[in-house]
Amino acid sequence: MNEGSPARHELNELGEFGLIDRIRQKARLKVPNILKGIGDDAAVWDVGDHYELISTDLLVEGVHFDLAYAPLQHIGYKAVASNVSDIAAMNGTPTHIVVGLGLSNRFSVEAVDALYSGIHAACENYQVDLVGGDTSSSAAGLIISVSVIGRVEEHRVAYRSGLCPNDILCVTGDLGAAFAGLQVLQREKEVFLANPNAQPDLEKYEYCVGRQLKPEARMDIVHELKDMNLVPTSMIDVSDGLASELMHLSTQSNVGVKIFEDKLPIDHQTYDIALEFKLDPVTFALNGGEDYELLFSIRQSDFEKVKNHPDIHFIGHALAQTDQRVMVTKAGIEIPLQAQGWTHFKK
Ligand code: ADP
Ligand code: MG
Repeated sequence: MNEGSPARHELNELGEFGLIDRIRQKARLKVPNILKGIGDDAAVWDVGDHYELISTDLLVEGVHFDLAYAPLQHIGYKAVASNVSDIAAMNGTPTHIVVGLGLSNRFSVEAVDALYSGIHAACENYQVDLVGGDTSSSAAGLIISVSVIGRVEEHRVAYRSGLCPNDILCVTGDLGAAFAGLQVLQREKEVFLANPNAQPDLEKYEYCVGRQLKPEARMDIVHELKDMNLVPTSMIDVSDGLASELMHLSTQSNVGVKIFEDKLPIDHQTYDIALEFKLDPVTFALNGGEDYELLFSIRQSDFEKVKNHPDIHFIGHALAQTDQRVMVTKAGIEIPLQAQGWTHFKK
């Protein structure tokens, strides 16, 4: 190395979370009404009679989607749904989106129309207005950046940092299906590349493939919690995998977590796919990602309100011991939870 040349550190030394933390440490908040900056699913600021929320997500071709199997319409839908999911994770309601597009000349007008038909379908479904964006050429394929604005009543906001010892950990829907769907799609792509006449047989995997290609944000749960007059003590959406999201709740709330393997909601199709690939379905649930379900916590005293909900599952509870983050296996053994998440830069 040349004397005096600045030190160079590789991104993979830090990983995604380390990098975000480094950015956060240097971000000084200046505007007085900001309540939450970097570190939650959305930023929060006080506008008087309610809180406003903002969040953004970036989808990059070849990283987040593959045009060999993902229809543009679905990509547009997913770009909006994944953003809405971050507003849902604050217990809020989305109101507006803006869309940034990077396009190469590989794409036709019809392709952009298809992408926007998905964006509009999601806007309709989640009742949000598309109010702006930006368009650029791109040398690296398709890039879609969606930012979403939302709102939440002051007393209903749910942060990652509100988990308390003994709170019950709840998760909606089922976990690992989107990852299972991705395995199938990637396999079918390989089969197709080897033999272009091969017809993909996706029917028996329809549920999981659908969960990968066209996920839904759980706004239904946000509305139901409100109807039940229940405010979660903490909440996060499951975009990187349950283990990773549990670690976020644990570190930001300074409490431990204990979950039970036999309580994890896993669809039978996810099981079947995992076994077909000779992989562990529990790993799919813990580290799969892109489920866009909600992980939240409630006080024990609120359990009565939700105990019979068919789509909310009780997977464990929070502990006073901060450094305890464990899963009790079906054999009754406690193993430490490990967050893999999408460590983009870690190879
Ligand atoms: P999520 O999975 O909920 O979308 P992320 O893990 O992407 O959340 O981000 C965690 C937090 O870090 C969020 O508050 C997000 O706004 C912030 N963040 C992510 N990337 C950047 C960045 N490049 N600059 C500033 N803040 C960022
Ligand atoms: Mg999130």
